Amino acid sequence: RERNPGQDEFVQAVHEVAHDIWGWIADKPEYHEAEILRRIAEPDRIVSFRVCWEDDEHNIRVERGWRVQNNNAIGPYKGGLRFDESVNESVLKFLAFEQTFKNSLTGLPLGGGKGGANFNPKGKSDAEVMRFCQSYMTELFRHIGPHTDVPAGDIGVGSREIGYLFGQYKRLTNRWEGALTGKALDYGGSELRPEATGYGAIYFLRAALEQAKDGLDGKTAVISGSGNVALHAARKLVSEGAKVVTLSDSDGYIHDPDGFDDAKLDFVFDLKLERRGRMSEYVDQFKGASFHEGENPWNVACDLALPCATQNELDENDAKTLIENGAVAICEGANMPSTTAATDRFRDAGLIFAPAKAANAGGVAVSGLEMSQNAERVSWESEKLDRMLTSLMCDIHDKCAAYGERDDGSVDYARGANIAGFKKVADAMLAYGVV
Ligand code: NDP
Repeated sequence: RERNPGQDEFVQAVHEVAHDIWGWIADKPEYHEAEILRRIAEPDRIVSFRVCWEDDEHNIRVERGWRVQNNNAIGPYKGGLRFDESVNESVLKFLAFEQTFKNSLTGLPLGGGKGGANFNPKGKSDAEVMRFCQSYMTELFRHIGPHTDVPAGDIGVGSREIGYLFGQYKRLTNRWEGALTGKALDYGGSELRPEATGYGAIYFLRAALEQAKDGLDGKTAVISGSGNVALHAARKLVSEGAKVVTLSDSDGYIHDPDGFDDAKLDFVFDLKLERRGRMSEYVDQFKGASFHEGENPWNVACDLALPCATQNELDENDAKTLIENGAVAICEGANMPSTTAATDRFRDAGLIFAPAKAANAGGVAVSGLEMSQNAERVSWESEKLDRMLTSLMCDIHDKCAAYGERDDGSVDYARGANIAGFKKVADAMLAYGVV
C-alpha cells in the first residue's frame, strides 16, 4: 500500500493473489528467492498520455489515456481498453495484473496488459467518438503491434470504437496486421468473439457444477449488467435450461420473475447493444417485470449469481444475503466484481465460487484465436471456435480444480486459479533470469 498510494483497486487485486501464492510457494524457494510475485506486481511499463480532441461544439477537450504493459513473459501483452470516467491508473493496473494470470490460464501465449482513458463515450455523437479514438490511437500506435501488445475492447469500447481505433492504426502504420482484436467480421474479426466471455463463463460454471454432481438445468440465475458479457451469459444460461430473472445497468436492476426468454433477450440486446438505451425501458414492454432504481439485484433469491457489470459491485452484505438465500454458485463475469470481504465469505461458505480470472477468460481466449486467424489470414467457423472455447474453458476448470482441491474433495477455484495462473508466468520468468 505504501508503494502504491491511492491505488486501492490495485492493492486489493495483488493482496488477493498474494494470499494464495505465499502459502503455495512457502516450500518452493526458487519462487520466493527470485521475488517473482513482486516482479509480476510491478508493471513492465505504464504509458500515460494526453488525448486532445474537439467536440461537436468546437470545444477543445483534454483527457488522459494509458496503456499498462504488465508482463510479457509468455507472450505479447494482451488486454482490453476501457473508456469510462472512472478509469484511472489504479483501475488499469489492477486489470492488467489480473489479466496476466487470466491469460496464462488460457494456455495460449498471451502476456497481460490493459489500457483506456477517462473518456465516456455515453452521450457522445459518433463523430465525437471517432475523433477521440483517432487522437487516442495517435499516441497508442507507437506502443502496440501484433508481436508487442494487442489491445481489445472492454467497458465503453465496443465494435464501433475498435473500428475507429483500428482504422487509425492502419492509417498511421500503413500496415494491415492484427494489432487489435474485437474487430468486426468484415475486417479480420473472429466469429464468436462477442459471445465468448459470456458463453465461456457458462461453460466454466457448467464444468464446476458437474464436478459437484450438479447441473444448470432448472436453476434460477441472477445477473447484473446488461452489456456484452451479461447478455451472452444470459443467452447461454437460458439455452442450458436455467431461468434468468434479473439484468441491470448503472441506473438499477430489472426483476422479471417469469424469466428472460429468447424474445425478451432479443429486445434487451437491441435496447442495450444497438440503441444504447436504459434497462428501465424494459418494464414498458413486458408486464410483470419491475425496475429497482439505484439498486443491485443480489437480494433476489437464486441458485446462481453472476456479477457481470463492474468491479466491487458485490459487497460482504450482498454475499451474506446470497448465501442465506441458498445460492449454490457464484460465477464472476466482470473483473473483480466481489469485494475482498465478499470473496472471503463465498470461499468460507464452501459454495462454488468461480473467480473472474478463470470464469471470464473465454473472451481473451477467443481474442487469442483471432490473433492466430489474422496471422494465418484465415477465418474459422463459429462451430469450430465454439468447440475450441468449450475445450479451453474445461481445461481452465481442470487446472483450477487440480491446484484448488480442498481436503474434503471440494474445490477452492480462486486459489486454484491464482496458483495455476502464477506458475506458468513464474516458470518463464525464472528461465529468463533476473531481467
Ligand atoms: P459493457 O460496457 O458492454 O457493459 C457493462 C455493463 O455494466 C452495462 O450494462 C453497464 O450499464 C453496467 N455497469 C457499468 N458500470 C456499472 C456500475 N457502476 N453499476 C452497475 N452497472 C454498471 O462491458 P462488458 O460487458 O464488456 O464488461 C463487463 C465486465 O466484464 C467488465 O468488468 C469487463 O472488464 C469484464 N470483461 C469483459 C470482457 C469482454 O469480452 N467484453 C472480457 C473479460 C472481462 P450502463 O449501460 O448503464 O453503462
